Amino acid sequence: MSAQGAPHEGETVGRVDRARPQVVVVGGGFAGFYALRRLQRKLPPDGADLVVVNPTDYLLYSPLLPEVATGVVEARHVAVSLRRALPRVRLVLGRVQNVDLAARAVTVVQGSGDGTVSTITLRWDRLALAPGSVTREFPIPGVPEHGRGLKTLVEAVFLRDHLLEQLDLADATPDTVEGRAERAARLTVVAVGAGYTGTELVAQTQRWLRRIERRWSRTRAQDVHWVLVDVAPAVLPELGAELGRLALRLLRRRGVDVRLEVSVASVDETSVRLTDGATVPTRTLVWGAGVVPNPLVGRLGLPTHRGRLVVEPDLSVAGAPGVWAAGDAAAVPDLAVHAGPDGRPDAPPTAQHAQRQGTVMGRNIAASLGVGRARPYRHRDLGLVADLGGWDAVAKPLGVPLTGPLAKAVTRAYHLYALPSTPNRIRVAVDWLFQTILPPESTQLSVVRPDDARIAIAQGLLPPQPPAPVTEDLAHDPSD
Ligand SMILES: Cc1cc2nc3c(=O)[nH]c(=O)nc-3n(C[C@H](O)[C@H](O)[C@H](O)COP(=O)(O)OP(=O)(O)OC[C@H]3O[C@@H](n4cnc5c(N)ncnc54)[C@H](O)[C@@H]3O)c2cc1C
Repeated sequence: MSAQGAPHEGETVGRVDRARPQVVVVGGGFAGFYALRRLQRKLPPDGADLVVVNPTDYLLYSPLLPEVATGVVEARHVAVSLRRALPRVRLVLGRVQNVDLAARAVTVVQGSGDGTVSTITLRWDRLALAPGSVTREFPIPGVPEHGRGLKTLVEAVFLRDHLLEQLDLADATPDTVEGRAERAARLTVVAVGAGYTGTELVAQTQRWLRRIERRWSRTRAQDVHWVLVDVAPAVLPELGAELGRLALRLLRRRGVDVRLEVSVASVDETSVRLTDGATVPTRTLVWGAGVVPNPLVGRLGLPTHRGRLVVEPDLSVAGAPGVWAAGDAAAVPDLAVHAGPDGRPDAPPTAQHAQRQGTVMGRNIAASLGVGRARPYRHRDLGLVADLGGWDAVAKPLGVPLTGPLAKAVTRAYHLYALPSTPNRIRVAVDWLFQTILPPESTQLSVVRPDDARIAIAQGLLPPQPPAPVTEDLAHDPSD
């Protein structure tokens, strides 16, 4: 350790107290957070040292990201402070790059704003893997460069600014043949993936633009062409056929151009080409075509199912003593669903499951340290909710299909209940209240560089790009 207590590059950080076992949790999202919360409550102070490795100092409540992208909810209000909520836990900012199962150590890569990167090694006696998932990109030409995901705060803040900028630029285009074509492209938004990410983003942004359309002199919300594309035959398949049909009808009634059973063939700076041969001129491609488990899982050399780490019903990893896994990265058998001809399905990758799996993982790790008894994970799905902007929503709480204002009330109540911090709940509730009584925010902050919002960079699959060098012209102060 350095004099200040911060580890030096490559240094092995041993246990804080060698007599106590060290529990290292990889990922401070839903599964990791709830595991630590349970461990913190269950274990006596000298029972174990608790460590979490996460690239940020907060849990991101991702179900409200579409509301961040529309500025209805302030970005910080969906970020739950890990330090405040987990006072017994040591937070190591960084990303686990490698897990050495034999040596019981993880290598953590830490980057800082100036582009310097260092690594440290952490020893563990118990390891909980909860690194979540990343946006599925597919090897489609142009998607990595031009597609924008919605899985991090950086992406949500960028998307909001980008949309405002496109409308500003469209408003300023000259009324010429070329100007009209450019204006139409800037006023077209293509969202790929009609699951909750793509559908909620399109539906909520459409409503938001209606509320701020007076910002522009000759552009109105109805001028924007929304294209929602999915290879599946339905929207919001997570909510079942009936609600999916209702959501589809609502979107089409609102003028959203929903194109089903079609995918993207290629993308360039000015257009998206679909697999049915259509070309859509646009400057905005929102990529919400599902998720894949975090690539860390594939580097472990352990059995996977559809890329997710195979675990036992008690969330322990077979063949890796002292290791557990939960959340989007783990293939957890769904004991609440009967086994079919292909065996028992895995629990779906939702926050609802990740949170509850985290709690069970924490309980079972505590049991392995001699506190309490282990139990298998079993949870009956409470149903999903989708906010479609304005007073529109679809929800299926406990299997009961709801639409309209009642579904909206259930959706908001559910989010307030599921946000794991009272100060965050109050701030989000106040954001919703202000949204109804004050004019909506419509300013562009432009705090995210377009390169940093690329899916691979925003989601940590590539290192951040170093800042562009300052050219002599820019460096020269004309007042000199
Ligand atoms: C826009 C959107 C809307 C959604 N809406 C809903 C909804 O309405 N209902 C619902 O149930 N679910 C919803 N989900 C899904 C839900 O967010 C996920 O299922 C849930 O977050 C999974 O929890 P997790 O703990 O597995 O992963 P996460 O919550 O993603 O946490 C993983 C954590 O690990 C960190 N991490 C990643 N790699 C590393 C590494 N190498 N080392 C250390 N840390 C790492 C990540 O930064 C992150 O903090 C939504 C998701 C999105 C993107």
